[in-house]
Amino acid sequence: MAESEFDIIRHYFARHRASRDDVLAGIGDDAALVLVPAGRVLAVCMDTLVAGVHFPPETSAAAIGHKALAVNLSDLAAMGAEPAWATLALTVPENDAAWLAAFSDAFFTLADRYGVQLVGGDTTRGPLAVTVQAHGFVTPGKALRRQGARPGERIYVTGTLGDAGLALRMTDPGDSWLRTRLDFPEPRIEAGLVLRDYASAAIDISDGLLADLGHLLEGDRLGASLRIDALPRSEAFLEAMQVLDPDRRGVYYELPLSAGDDYELCFTVAEKHCSEMEERLAGIPGGCRWIGVVEAEQGIRCYVDDGAPYRPAVTGYQHFSSTP
Ligand code: ADP
Ligand code: MG
Repeated sequence: MAESEFDIIRHYFARHRASRDDVLAGIGDDAALVLVPAGRVLAVCMDTLVAGVHFPPETSAAAIGHKALAVNLSDLAAMGAEPAWATLALTVPENDAAWLAAFSDAFFTLADRYGVQLVGGDTTRGPLAVTVQAHGFVTPGKALRRQGARPGERIYVTGTLGDAGLALRMTDPGDSWLRTRLDFPEPRIEAGLVLRDYASAAIDISDGLLADLGHLLEGDRLGASLRIDALPRSEAFLEAMQVLDPDRRGVYYELPLSAGDDYELCFTVAEKHCSEMEERLAGIPGGCRWIGVVEAEQGIRCYVDDGAPYRPAVTGYQHFSSTP
């Protein structure tokens, strides 16, 4: 990207420097120097957004800037980690001032909300792709893991499911609330921090509830039953459904079960902790909903409220699967 690479870094990404005491050297040196507090462990995660794969080409720069960080903070939330730093590898087709301003504004707005400092990155020219690495702190032994669930425990999710999936399927989502859920997911950081005291296992839902709950259960060779009428659906989802799926069989069940991009947390809690956990999460954005039970028998079994089994059509998004 020749000389303009450094202009881009200076103009758009080096402007929020030195906001945290634990950053000894941020953007501008060959590497960042950061201080992990004594007695804590670093949680590190990375996610890439590729144009046309992870977001439709018409997605706004602000949405991409927000989402690139949000999906990583969602992974930290699922570990019960306290976010601290991020690095950003940005590949852009051109030096577009308006795009870069909107992208970086949205990135920093979200970063500031959670006290995250951008400490470095890489800027290159090419087809649009954004990779963010996020770093957070956990106390040894207190991180939320995918493994650890036990038969009999309850399964919960935060927020509502299927909103982003529905926005993607609408012919004109406009500036609707559903569109906001797709473009500006809110990482459930506060919920993750509370859940350190209660959850036996947790995962964030990026590829659909069935797929991600499946990951949570598979390590312990467990299964689950889900009450799919109890899955949390937003007002906006229910309203759009009345037009798209009036008999409530297809989209009404399929999207909350299988659509990606929810970025909610799915977690398991032993019964004795449930009422206290529910009370604490009630005061936190998104809240939580009890949707099922962990079982010893492998596989995820879905039931509607009259007790009839429901067989989902699709189970989640996989990048390299040969059958869609
Ligand atoms: P080097 O050539 O030593 O790898 P770069 O020219 O790639 O250094 O980057 C210069 C500085 O700017 C480094 O501190 C790097 O971490 C930072 N940086 C580059 N791109 C970005 C970006 N998109 N966001 C944040 N920091 C960046
Ligand atoms: Mg570099």
